[in-house]
Amino acid sequence: MVEVGLLMTIALILALLHFGVPLSYYYYLKKWWLSKPWNIRRDPGYKPKVSIIVPTYNEAGLIESKLDDLAKQDYPRELVEVIVVDSASTDGTPEKVEEWARRNPDVKLALIREPTRRGKAHALNNALKYATGDIVVITDVDTTWSSNDTLSNAVLWFNDLSVGAVTCLKLPAGKGIMRVEEGYREFYNVVRLAESKKHSTPVFHGELAAFRRSLLEKVGGFPTNIGADDSHTATKIALMGYRVIAVDNAWCVENVPRSRYHTWRIRRAQHLIQHFMAILKHLWRAPRELRETLLVEVYLHLLNPWILVIAVAILLYLALNPSIVAIALIALGAT
Ligand code: GDP
Ligand code: MN
Repeated sequence: MVEVGLLMTIALILALLHFGVPLSYYYYLKKWWLSKPWNIRRDPGYKPKVSIIVPTYNEAGLIESKLDDLAKQDYPRELVEVIVVDSASTDGTPEKVEEWARRNPDVKLALIREPTRRGKAHALNNALKYATGDIVVITDVDTTWSSNDTLSNAVLWFNDLSVGAVTCLKLPAGKGIMRVEEGYREFYNVVRLAESKKHSTPVFHGELAAFRRSLLEKVGGFPTNIGADDSHTATKIALMGYRVIAVDNAWCVENVPRSRYHTWRIRRAQHLIQHFMAILKHLWRAPRELRETLLVEVYLHLLNPWILVIAVAILLYLALNPSIVAIALIALGAT
């Protein structure tokens, strides 16, 4: 019955690892990196030209309020171009965009209509050909920026040439726009922010992902074979030695879909798995601080979920053999 005791011990250790590694990582980052200085020269007066790319597929219900939000940003109008790239929506999205543009002639807006749908990354690459800004900002339609200075706040980091890409932190879903303090306490925000202070974070957010255009061109635009296209592109830029960071002065609201929540969560997770699988072969050329971050994130995304699956499988196996468990417990008690 030694094997049973052994199996139980293994299951316990695996479960401890599954919960312990993320928690330890969190406390390590919080203690050592969260309050460190950025070592980045920021300049609120730095106002480069910005291209905002909005990819749309069947977004007729949300596109107008999204464009209204963008128009409310305090960034100088003459320095902003909005590029909506639509992939053959069937619900009248492009027409809504055209109507909006007619009502808002003071906003520089271009609409690109793709004849067929070939995915978000494909559409972004298409829009990139038209972008003239020094900074390219990608933002999903179903998201909101927390305030009118979100864009300015994200852009000012690019004053430092070591910065290659910037993303927002996320406000907890469904808790309203005014809860920034709560956002600071969220597990993922602490991790993203501290990773960014250490060097870079490998997870970007579709709510606001800003890139230096010259670097986007260097890495060949967005990958069409990896779902987490923004995260992957940012990480490739980090591997070139640039900082790619989540910043604590730009906040976004994640709009969680009302229906099919679990399908959505699983799809997001799959996208990150694709991303980290593709990063594996580049680990060796990352600067040290970045390599440490990537190693932990690779573990968390590729191995950690399976560790729990294995632990549960072992416990189920033991539970389905009650006689074995009984004998094991007696054996354990006897030792
Ligand atoms: P999720 O948040 O990861 O579930 O992805 P969404 O379905 O919300 O898509 C993110 C953004 O990309 C939204 O603005 C979509 O309208 C847009 N989008 C999704 N698929 C396509 C596509 O094939 N082409 C274009 N142009 N946009 C797309
Ligand atoms: Mn979405």
